[in-house]
Amino acid sequence: MTATATADPVDVRAYIAGEWRDGVRTGSDINPSRPSEQVARVHSGDASHATQAVEAARDAFPGWRNMPPPLRGDILRKAADLLDQRAEQVGRDLTREEGKTLAEGIGETRRAVAILRYYAAQTLEPDGETYPSHSPATFLYARREPVGVVAAITPWNFPIAIPAWKIAPALAYGNTVVWKPAEIVPLTAKHLLQALVDAGLPKGVLNLVIGRGRDIGDTLVTHEAVDAITFTGSNDVGRAIQSKAVALGKKVQLELGGKNPSVVLADADLALAAEHVARGAFLSAGQKCTATSKVIVERGVLKDFQDRLVAIAQSWKLGDPLEADTKVGPVASEDQLNTVQRYLDIGQKDGAKVLAGGGRAKELGEGYYIQPTVLGDVPANSKVVTEEIFGPVAAIIPAGSYDEAVKLANDTPYGLTSALFTRDLGRALRFTSDIRSGVVKVNQESAGLEFHVPFGGMKESSSGSREQGKAAREFFTQWKTVYMDMPPVQ
Ligand code: NAD
Repeated sequence: MTATATADPVDVRAYIAGEWRDGVRTGSDINPSRPSEQVARVHSGDASHATQAVEAARDAFPGWRNMPPPLRGDILRKAADLLDQRAEQVGRDLTREEGKTLAEGIGETRRAVAILRYYAAQTLEPDGETYPSHSPATFLYARREPVGVVAAITPWNFPIAIPAWKIAPALAYGNTVVWKPAEIVPLTAKHLLQALVDAGLPKGVLNLVIGRGRDIGDTLVTHEAVDAITFTGSNDVGRAIQSKAVALGKKVQLELGGKNPSVVLADADLALAAEHVARGAFLSAGQKCTATSKVIVERGVLKDFQDRLVAIAQSWKLGDPLEADTKVGPVASEDQLNTVQRYLDIGQKDGAKVLAGGGRAKELGEGYYIQPTVLGDVPANSKVVTEEIFGPVAAIIPAGSYDEAVKLANDTPYGLTSALFTRDLGRALRFTSDIRSGVVKVNQESAGLEFHVPFGGMKESSSGSREQGKAAREFFTQWKTVYMDMPPVQ
């Protein structure tokens, strides 16, 4: 197959209680690098699908929670092996429907494999603690038990890694799941589900619902049989879900937006800083919650740093994400294209200077391509500095000192990730406590996470306990404390 060869569109349907279900309407999953190409025919459901899926998960829960955890782990491990064997195809489909480069698509699929393996291994870990009791007759212990039925609502920008880091721990710890992926990435969802089904997951343990959030989301959030909701996506949708679900007594975990700063101090290795800022800002076309979006640079090195970043922005190939030398693909949808363009217009109206890029790459035809863009002289109160853009845009803000740089970095309602570039160990250590973000990087891009450590943000970026690593156990389990007295000896 050549890099640009297309395949016939496949069908994607809901999967409920172990069966594929037709929807109430059929739509198109399209390729953002070539919007006239249909990647999949999508059979979308409505609220009745959500109800059936929740009921299937509720019915499957007793059997799944009682399966010995190591046997649940065996199924996850087998799913990981199957996904690993299929990674090239899955990564290619991911790229065709989401737009990130093939290397990123395959890399993300392999990340999902690693996550499945990690949580398979977690099923062998201790699941409780024993305590000394004040009473001589009492055996006192606490054990973690599953929460019940979990609704997992996921975004389009990491269409396999994010679902994997919610679904794998949910299943490993004994919960059953209803999963609603984002509308524009249903084919990747089908691949992840298929690997788990082929690995032997019992009917009803994982159910996939396909459709618009507004058609099926409410049922998932409010159904009395749903015990917990794990959501990743935009702040508006996340907060609306939270207020409804919390009022009904459900457990809620939110991973929301980011406006992640990178701070470049005058003593930094500027070549390294420019490379990592470019990676954080432009890879995946800037569509990462952890992407670098504002870059605060000490004045003494401003010009030098800007020149280096501009040179990278102009040299990285923007184009067909299936071609091996492409560094930056299209943004994922026409909505994204319009949103990013709107922010670029706002920035220029506010007085920002376009140092590289600046808008749509019209020479690339119908695809949703935005040039990697560097904005200089950006006023700190411009919306391009204060709001999440979710596109390949780096806004540079000068700072007079470390203290001013930290103030500018913290001047955001978000607090997901941050980065500092310096050779000064003292400053680096100070920054790790001065900055209000859930993840801090020193001499590394703000994006890029390891899967076995806690992940989440501060302030408006997250709510509830952390995802990933052992931290995920907090959300997907609840404690049961047992006081057991031995009967008196007869
Ligand atoms: P979105 O909020 O539009 O959609 C997220 C999911 O919610 C989708 O599956 C969507 O169908 C569903 N949804 C929409 N309306 C709903 C409703 N009324 N009820 C229930 N579900 C509903 O977000 P998006 O555009 O898919 O993703 C981009 C956003 O996600 C960005 O803000 C980004 O920062 C954020 N994000 C955060 C993280 C993180 O870990 N913090 C990671 C990736 C993306």
